[in-house]
Amino acid sequence: MPVLDERLVPIFEEVLSRNPGETEFHQAVREVLESLGPVVSKHPQYADSAVIRRLCEPERQIIFRVPWVTDSGKIEVNRGFRVEFSSALGPYKGGLRFHPSVYLGIVKFLGFEQIFKNALTGLPIGGGKGGSDFDPKGRTDAEVMRFCQSFMTELYRHIGEYTDVPAGDIGVGGRELGYMFGQYKRITNRYESGTLTGKGLSWGGAQVRTEATGYGTAFFVNEMLRTEQDSLDGKKVVVSGSGNVAIYAIEKVHQLGGIVVACSDSAGYVHDPAGIDLELLKEVKNVQRGRVSDYAVARGNQASFVSDGSIWDVPCDIALPCATQNELDSIGVATLIRNGCCIVAEGANMPVTPDAIRTLADANVRFAPAKAVNAGGVATSALEMQQNASRDTWTFDYTQNRLAEIMRSIHDRCLETADEYGSPGNYVAGANISGFTRVADSMLALGVI
Ligand code: GLU
Repeated sequence: MPVLDERLVPIFEEVLSRNPGETEFHQAVREVLESLGPVVSKHPQYADSAVIRRLCEPERQIIFRVPWVTDSGKIEVNRGFRVEFSSALGPYKGGLRFHPSVYLGIVKFLGFEQIFKNALTGLPIGGGKGGSDFDPKGRTDAEVMRFCQSFMTELYRHIGEYTDVPAGDIGVGGRELGYMFGQYKRITNRYESGTLTGKGLSWGGAQVRTEATGYGTAFFVNEMLRTEQDSLDGKKVVVSGSGNVAIYAIEKVHQLGGIVVACSDSAGYVHDPAGIDLELLKEVKNVQRGRVSDYAVARGNQASFVSDGSIWDVPCDIALPCATQNELDSIGVATLIRNGCCIVAEGANMPVTPDAIRTLADANVRFAPAKAVNAGGVATSALEMQQNASRDTWTFDYTQNRLAEIMRSIHDRCLETADEYGSPGNYVAGANISGFTRVADSMLALGVI
């Protein structure tokens, strides 16, 4: 593990002792602190004013009971979370994750990352995250609705367009946001569109929001390639996952000329050498709510489903982990490197382990972190908030052009900042430092609050 600047060691030790057992949160904090050595050397005021220590402690953490009734009449009890991390730049902003693995440590890692990601977009949004250990898999629409209504019956009092604006994440898409917005509207008797983002197009949602995280990921990779006068054209790409991020990353990679030969879910991966048939994948995942094994069956001889291997065994030029945290470890990257992969970019939040990131750096494989690569989702949420505030709707093309511009400027800002702080070409340093300095400067201006 790289050593931390001596001014940052006590901060990290305090994070470890105040947040026992929250390993993902520790990992996310450490990754940022590892980039901040040159920043505190150049600007000691950040260390002196305890900006970093303050940032590691959420402004507010809400944990609540979510009771609901199954179709068969059984009472279930889940736990709900909203961690409002930083409002230095704007209302808390970040998604809700519904997955059985959700506990405070996951929500805090996501919320912490969100602060810097949101700052990097250049838009006026603070950082927060929430969710529940509820598992939507196998639940009927009616059960999902009752859960979402119960979740919002507590959450509504903490959110609002000027306070905290949740959106989707793993397990939370248009269906869940619809049920939650409906309940919010009913309880408050107000049609406050700007309170949630990722809404449906007929009830206040924005064009491109559904596609934005995946599209932004592909745009970012295209920018990385452009710095070497290259493009996605003809590149073989592996995309892990098959949820919202993965599906739209595949779509944009294909539109930009690349070919995605594999994707996955928690049961295994599908290898489709001729290129994933996206219409079929969308039908299986979004309409039938099926698995990638169903895609492989429907695709016939073209594709094979592998349940006992690793998707990173599939040879590719570019790997886009778009499933979940810590899904790509040093064994996976060793295979990618052996097979000639030259770019790894994080579509999911923190999918590459710290060891694996170091292995990639040692092998000179270009790596870009989630804070930069997947920021297109939350950036387009901020565009949705703009449209809601002005009671306007923008066209698909206009919104997509705005997204592409934002991704280009995030990319360029990362490289400029990395240069400025002595780590040329290092996207991790660039993203962390650039996001951090924007938040830190606002915190210094706003006083000790
Ligand atoms: N959950 C997404 C993320 O990780 C989007 C959050 C949002 O749109 O607020 O950035």
